[in-house]
Amino acid sequence: TVDREWREFNRSRVYMADLESALHYSLRVEVAAYPEIRGEALSALKLYISVLAKYFPGRPVVMNLLQALDSWLTDYKEFKVSYSSIKAVLDNAGEVPNAVLPNEEKWVGCQGSQPHYRGYPCSVWTLFHLLTVQAAESTSSSDPLDVLKAMRSYVKNFFGCRECATHFESMAEDSMGEVTNRTTSVLWLWARHNQVNSRLAGALSEDPQFPKIQWPPPDMCPQCHSVTGGEHEWKQGAVLDFLRSHFAADRILRDHLE
Ligand code: FAD
Repeated sequence: TVDREWREFNRSRVYMADLESALHYSLRVEVAAYPEIRGEALSALKLYISVLAKYFPGRPVVMNLLQALDSWLTDYKEFKVSYSSIKAVLDNAGEVPNAVLPNEEKWVGCQGSQPHYRGYPCSVWTLFHLLTVQAAESTSSSDPLDVLKAMRSYVKNFFGCRECATHFESMAEDSMGEVTNRTTSVLWLWARHNQVNSRLAGALSEDPQFPKIQWPPPDMCPQCHSVTGGEHEWKQGAVLDFLRSHFAADRILRDHLE
């Protein structure tokens, strides 16, 4: 269901409703466009679900579902899988207790002033920033680049905006090799997102009520900015602290959840 009722929201906060809507749309709409998933795309899906099961700070019912899907995919050893069997797991045909992925597209912080603005792409950025931050806080000994690799391969294989996927892949090719740890993963994604914001500022896809800016702006994080000799400079340490707090699990707002 798509609900278009306008909801007041705080522009400087992250909403769980947007994150759950991202999962719903990606797994039930975007991935569903592929009746059969094989090879590289199947590996991309497995990695995406594994980082969600590991780092997504979701409600227990949602985590139970993501973990059930992750175990099912980990045990799945064939070269190809049909979307209908993935859908059966998403719909909890196995009847795992207390496991549900809400079947709803409900945007809150990602609402656009018109239905064709914002929404899903906004939630994809939000989801992956959040995951890089959660991974940086975790004690997991797995690949420090797991979240960025999951984002890169998800976007390349499934993201519906193919032009976006091409741009993102070329940014990843240019500079993801310089990322060595979980902290630099957080900053890499932040800096690339600002690069995209600057390319898209003034473009037709820009919601006039939500102009593309270099983020976080000074009113949100004064200490993130400095000006030396008339030149703007980011204070990366302050930016990292800001991102850690903005995308902290215990700061996610739960308004408008069922
Ligand atoms: P978004 O850019 O979607 O940002 C969502 C929210 O994230 C913002 O509201 C803000 O709270 C926060 N935010 C903003 N900047 C940062 C930052 N630097 N770090 C952390 N958080 C931040 N559209 C195109 O037209 N062409 C493209 O090539 C293109 N490539 C894309 C590639 C990817 C991987 C993705 C996910 C999207 C892409 N898009 C592209 C869509 C575009 O980037 C926006 O998502 C869309 O226009 C909606 O914009 P928005 O105003 O909701 O803000």
